[in-house]
Amino acid sequence: FNFTFKPLKDKDEKVYGIVHAAVDISRLVQLQRQKDEFLGVASHELKTPVTSIKAYTQVLERILRGEGDLRKADMVAKMDKQLDRLTGLINDLLDVNKIQSGRLRFNPEEFNFDSAIIQMLDELSLTMHGHKISIDYQADALVYADRERIRQVLTNLLNNAIKYSPASSEIRVSTTLAGHDVVLCVRDEGIGIAPEHTERIFEQFFRVAGDLQHTFPGLGLGLYISAQIIRTEGGRMWVESTEGSGSSFFFSLPVRTPTLH
Ligand code: ADP
Repeated sequence: FNFTFKPLKDKDEKVYGIVHAAVDISRLVQLQRQKDEFLGVASHELKTPVTSIKAYTQVLERILRGEGDLRKADMVAKMDKQLDRLTGLINDLLDVNKIQSGRLRFNPEEFNFDSAIIQMLDELSLTMHGHKISIDYQADALVYADRERIRQVLTNLLNNAIKYSPASSEIRVSTTLAGHDVVLCVRDEGIGIAPEHTERIFEQFFRVAGDLQHTFPGLGLGLYISAQIIRTEGGRMWVESTEGSGSSFFFSLPVRTPTLH
């Protein structure tokens, strides 16, 4: 039951009674559970055929290249790229489902923050054509976190920076030490975010409304998932932005202090 109490006041603001409402929310809870279950099963079921189609497109592309039919091979390569996008969307839905049912798993390990970020950016740089990426490292410290999840957050921030800023503009990644935290910042020179939206962009499904929605594809889940991951790892995530000139997305993680035994 959900209980609410509301005082009844006369025109002089004097309380002359109280309304007490008890709403049975068990039906709502049940519907919410059904929705979560459906989301989980549906995204899982979508994943299986997509994985299978992807395997076939990769074989097909290789065959076509081998036969010298580059035009068809390029078309299949484009299909493969779109399948990656589809897989990304399905994975986001699965992650949201796991977050909401408390099943998002973490495998934390100790690692050097700067070295890990350097390595991740090295692996990602292949997909960043068009933008100039500059890097500044000053967080030579140990953290205790799930490397794959941190990679997911970094990828997300970089993909957003790429998506919401003009090609060939600069994206700056920096790491710093602030007190007992390492802080990572991804700065872009893109469209920026209006002050009234800066808190809400971390909510699930929130996207800045307007024409933008037609220009930039997405489900509005990336930042929600990223913020949840960082929160679970003991850090926090925030943004500083000026509409029209760019955004800086930050996340912090606690520095691992060595325990003496
Ligand atoms: P998506 O990009 O799929 O819409 P996100 O959760 O990653 O979802 O982002 C939520 C919203 O925040 C976006 O729709 C966009 O309006 C805004 N946003 C995110 N990153 C940036 C950025 N680097 N510059 C400007 N706006 C951004």
